Amino acid sequence: MTFVVTDNCIACKYTDCVSVCPVDCFYEGENMLVIDPEECIDCGVCEPECPADAIRADTEPGMEEWIAFNARYAAQWPVITEAKEPMPGADDLDGTENKLATHFSEKPAAEAA
Ligand code: SF4
Ligand code: SF4
Repeated sequence: MTFVVTDNCIACKYTDCVSVCPVDCFYEGENMLVIDPEECIDCGVCEPECPADAIRADTEPGMEEWIAFNARYAAQWPVITEAKEPMPGADDLDGTENKLATHFSEKPAAEAA
């Protein structure tokens, strides 16, 4: 079992989740985070920290697609270990349906200066 990041994280990056993860298994895309399912120790502390309710246990129905999604992008994006400012407009987009189709970027996060 693992936890996975789902649609409502897109365009958010509140990153409250990153601050609490004991094993640094969050990875950062241009406008979303994912969890590496292989590294996640299933502690669950990140799940209630997410203001967007985007972190889910993989035992919930319909999560198969998101497990594969998290694994795919965790292998491509850089690790993120410290919280940062949310993205501009994060609050306005919170709760928007199916951001995957309309807002997702496959690009990795820009390297920190
Ligand atoms: S707090 Fe939730 S929505 Fe924000 S970056 Fe973390 S997983 Fe994504
Ligand atoms: S469940 Fe624990 S180990 Fe897994 S991503 Fe969340 S905080 Fe990290």
